This record gives sequence, structure tokens and C-alpha cells, in this order.
Amino acid sequence: MSRRVEVVIIGGGVTGASIAFHLAAAGVRDVLLLERRTLASGGTGRSVGIVRQLYPTSETSQMVVRSLAVFQRFREAVGGESGYVACGALIGVSTTMRAKLEATVKLQRSVGVRAEVLEPADLARVEPRIDPENLGAVLYEPESGYGDPTAVTNGYADAARRGGVRIEQGVEVVAIRRAGDRVTGVETGTGERIDAPIVVNAAGLWSPPVARLAGVELPIIVGRHPVFVIERDASFGRPHLVYLDLAGGSYARPETGGLTLTGSLTDDETQHPMEPELLGADVSLDEATEVLERTGRAIPRLAEARYRRGWAGAFDITPDWMPILGESPVRGFWIAAGMSGHGFKLSPAVGEMMAALIVGATPLINPAPFAFGRFAAKAPSGTFVASYLG
Ligand SMILES: Cc1cc2nc3c(=O)[nH]c(=O)nc-3n(C[C@H](O)[C@H](O)[C@H](O)COP(=O)(O)OP(=O)(O)OC[C@H]3O[C@@H](n4cnc5c(N)ncnc54)[C@H](O)[C@@H]3O)c2cc1C
Repeated sequence: MSRRVEVVIIGGGVTGASIAFHLAAAGVRDVLLLERRTLASGGTGRSVGIVRQLYPTSETSQMVVRSLAVFQRFREAVGGESGYVACGALIGVSTTMRAKLEATVKLQRSVGVRAEVLEPADLARVEPRIDPENLGAVLYEPESGYGDPTAVTNGYADAARRGGVRIEQGVEVVAIRRAGDRVTGVETGTGERIDAPIVVNAAGLWSPPVARLAGVELPIIVGRHPVFVIERDASFGRPHLVYLDLAGGSYARPETGGLTLTGSLTDDETQHPMEPELLGADVSLDEATEVLERTGRAIPRLAEARYRRGWAGAFDITPDWMPILGESPVRGFWIAAGMSGHGFKLSPAVGEMMAALIVGATPLINPAPFAFGRFAAKAPSGTFVASYLG
């Protein structure tokens, strides 16, 4: 059994779906997306979906600005719903981080980010329930918020189908075929051979083993990042803003039904490698308690919130905590992985950049900082927090 297509995309998370949509929009015919389970069943379906804009480089800032514009008008730009809630985001930093924050925001404003540095004392006018005590400054991003990663994936997938893309779920790629240094197609778990001059690895947490099928090693560590769900007290009032407390080491984002999703911003996920198949597994009460204490210090009213549940999430982390978006040394074998915890908020721009690179067009944003071959050392440096301020 065999067939031929132009492009095979491996992985039906938000990355693969966005690439499929943008390839169809760029006029590529015969795109086939293969997902071994169901759309958004990987990291995408376990994501917290926060869209913050603070990034240390011009290129990543431009990526998030373009992506935010899509989330804001997803129905017109793509179709379907993004579930985007522009509640605003606040990012608290320590006194020692303040100078770096101010320099970064200056750079970011030049590429269109709307953000304002507040004195801790001024925080009360935006979100009085955050404790300003240990903060040196607070960044306010009025347009930031959170979205629904599963809805965005489905929106991109439906629009891709309308553009002629074939999406097959329950189909696993088990081999990648090569002729010398060129990719020639894939083989599936059902025994089918699919010839294709272009194969895209968008397999998220599974991208390293998928790359190995083509003889390519990715410098990616899959690191555990648990998420905890708490129920706010009925007297809490209106939902809080998204709050990322870089000084205290936790984040909180509101969810419908009086819930809040929270997690750690101090752990170094690279020190906690996780088997991807454990995605969604239970978490222990001990680890929840530690994070909830930090969240309760950041937003004291949440100290009274009731713990509901948690799950094991994980990030696919590169040495510089930025995605790999580019062609591998095997010609025609493209990588869109190593999202390092940013893969939802960057997904529109990632799909746009990948499609441009694949068709040989010049991407709107310089792709060099995301190139496959950029790593001198393979060991990760810094932690997730480094991706905010460098
Ligand atoms: C707990 C958690 C919180 C997060 N919070 C945020 C956040 O607040 N903001 C943000 O921007 N990002 C966040 N992220 C990151 C973001 O959600 C991810 O980077 C993004 O969703 C990854 O999408 P993906 O499509 O690259 O990978 P995935 O969603 O993992 O998709 C990969 C797909 O490939 C499939 N696959 C694997 N192997 C094969 C194969 N051999 N054949 C066929 N299919 C295969 C898998 O089944 C899977 O569906 C978070 C992630 C987690 C886990």
C-alpha cells in the first residue's frame, strides 16, 4: 500500500495544525497531517494557554505580537473560536530584575508590544488582590490574557481541511524514509508507505524519537511541569488577571467556573526529565502544597482557595529555551519542535514562519534565532524564567 503527497506533517497539536493551515494558505496542495491519537491530545491539550508578551529578543517579541493579533480576531483570520480572553497580564519582578525589565520593554515597544512598567504601589489600580510587598516593579500588558489551545488547534485543523489538507487521526508514523541525505517519505503503523519530498516533525514532546527515525538528534529535554487547579472562594469576586510572579516563583490564570490554574515559575524543568507517556498523570499533594503556598503569597486571597486537582504536564526544552524552526541536516526533513513552554502563544507565527520557509519564501520575521544548527552547546542554560528577560 503506498501513496504520494507533497508534505507530511507529523503531529496534530497546535503547531502541526497551524503549519497545515499556513501551508494550505500558501497554496501548497497535497498536505497530509498524521496524528497518532487525536488532535490536541499531546502537550496542547494539557496547556495553561497563557498569552504573555514579555520576551527578551526582537524576533520572539515580533512572533508574539503577530500571534496575539490572530488570537484577537481568530474567527475572521482562521475560523472557529480561540477562546481568547484579553483579561490583561501582570508580571511581577524583584528589585534586581527591574533594570532588565525596563530595557526589555523599551525594545519590545519598538516592535509593537503594548506594555507599561508600574510601581508596586500602583498595582492596586489594576489588580488590588496581588501583594506588592516583595516586588521591585510590575509589568502590565493590557492586551494579554489566555486562550483555549484545543479550540485553536481545531480551528486551524478545520480551516486547513477547507484549504484541502487531509488530516488522519489514529495514524502513527513509525519510520521515516531517506535516500542519502534526503527525506523521501514515511511509513505508518498500519503498514502504509507514503512518499513525500517534505516531512515536518511537529511531534512536540515526542519530537526527539520522531527525529531519530530520520537519523537526526534533537537537543531537546522533555521536562516535567505540573499544573494545579484551585477553586476560588465565592467571595473572591471577579476573576483575577493573569499573574506571573517572577519574584515569588508562581503563576495564576483564571479559568471559568470560579477556578484558577496555577504552577511554579522557580523549578528548572530540565532537572525533572519526564517520560512523555506520563502526560496527564496525577500529581502529589506535597508538590501541590508547595506551589499553592507561593501562589497564596502572591495573591493572598487565593490562600483560601480549595485544591481541586492537578496533572503532570511537560515542556520540550531546547538549550536556549526557544523553538527549533527550520530544516534539519536531512534535506526536506523540517523541525518545528522544542517549544520550551511557549508553543501555544507563538503558534500562529510559528505556522506562518514554517510555511514560508518550506515554500522558499522570505519569512516576515528573521528565522535565524530559531535555526536548527544554532546550538554550540547541547546542555540547557538558564530556566524558563530566562525566556522572559534573557
Ligand atoms: C502544562 C503545560 C502548560 C503550558 N502552558 C503554556 C502557556 O501558558 N502558554 C503557552 O504559550 N504555552 C504553554 N505550554 C506549551 C504549549 O502548550 C506547547 O508548547 C504546545 O501546545 C505544543 O504543541 P505541539 O503541537 O508542538 O506539540 P503537542 O501538542 O505535544 O503535539 C504533538 C502531537 O504529535 C503526536 N505524535 C507524536 N508522535 C507521533 C507519531 N510518531 N506519529 C504521529 N503523531 C505523533 C502526539 O500525539 C501529539 O498530539 C504549556 C504546556 C504544558 C504541557
